[in-house]
Amino acid sequence: MVEMSYKPLGKSGLELSIIGFGASPLGNEFGETDLNEGIRAVHYAIERGINYFDTAPYYGRGLSEERLGKALKGYRDKVILATKVGRYDKTDFDFSALRVNRSFEESLRRLQTDHIDLLQVHDIEFGNSEQIIGETLPALVELKQAGHVRAISITGYPLYNLKKVAEAFSQIDAILSYCRYNLLDTSLDDVLTPFAKEKGLGLINASPLHMRALTQLGAPDWHPAPKRVIQKAKEAAEYCQQQSKDIALLAMQFALAHPYVSSTLVGMFSVEQVEQNLAALDTQPDLTFLAEVQRLLEPVKNSHWLEGRLENNDPGSVPKGS
Ligand code: NAD
Repeated sequence: MVEMSYKPLGKSGLELSIIGFGASPLGNEFGETDLNEGIRAVHYAIERGINYFDTAPYYGRGLSEERLGKALKGYRDKVILATKVGRYDKTDFDFSALRVNRSFEESLRRLQTDHIDLLQVHDIEFGNSEQIIGETLPALVELKQAGHVRAISITGYPLYNLKKVAEAFSQIDAILSYCRYNLLDTSLDDVLTPFAKEKGLGLINASPLHMRALTQLGAPDWHPAPKRVIQKAKEAAEYCQQQSKDIALLAMQFALAHPYVSSTLVGMFSVEQVEQNLAALDTQPDLTFLAEVQRLLEPVKNSHWLEGRLENNDPGSVPKGS
């Protein structure tokens, strides 16, 4: 069994396991999950060397944080705990400094802790960039300076917007991007990877399974990708199954081979899933097979959808689910 590896998150001083535990499924974002199974999954992940756990007030509207807080009782000092501010529901955003501080206090209570290792502004494309730069991020810096937070970052989907805000506000430690480096989309490397490298910023790659599109079960109904992307992913998953291969394993192997990303953040809720995703550390992809699957997905590669305010989107974004 291959031991877990750890990588620095930029210059933050945090060392993250190269596989991170995404706790949005614990908030039932992908369907009902069992609390006790979730707690077992968290404990098993820690036992196997995963030290990085990501949640948000938005995931299950507090449920993910509450459950993660329960699971981490007695384990808090073993993990790097990340949560977020700014997003509270599908259309409920508040990036004011006042709400940042209130949200932070609420998160501490739900997570049963007195500090957060990585505090992130959630989905910045839904905010006014001037407010994010001039008010939200300075509020996070204050929490860091007061010793309540160890590192700060921004998260979101459109890549150029993340880059623009990171360029304007140099005190962030890292950037979390989702669905932009996996078998369906590698545009992270066109925009953020060279930038993060140059600036020495940490880079977190979330949703290596493209929010379940790259699994046998397939994308949830709410998946925002264009329909042809979901259809192609389904065809690729079926092709893998015919060859007795698991597309999720291939997708994890692919994402984990990224040379710069500090951690690949995958959503999990069961011991079985933790086990399956850790198997990607022990095995190498069959390169011929990987090329075949990539060829299958090529017609929809790097298709990206609109998120947040129109002006914050990448060129070429199409409406959700179109
Ligand atoms: P993902 O691509 O990690 O897919 C997760 C889904 O796949 C879940 O339904 C999970 O049950 C399932 N799954 C996990 N392992 C599997 C396996 N081996 N086989 C089959 N199915 C498997 O998408 P995600 O959960 O959205 O992203 C990962 C984490 O990144 C989130 O939980 C969250 O913590 C973080 N994230 C943050 C942002 C943001 O800040 N804006 C956005 C997206 C994700």
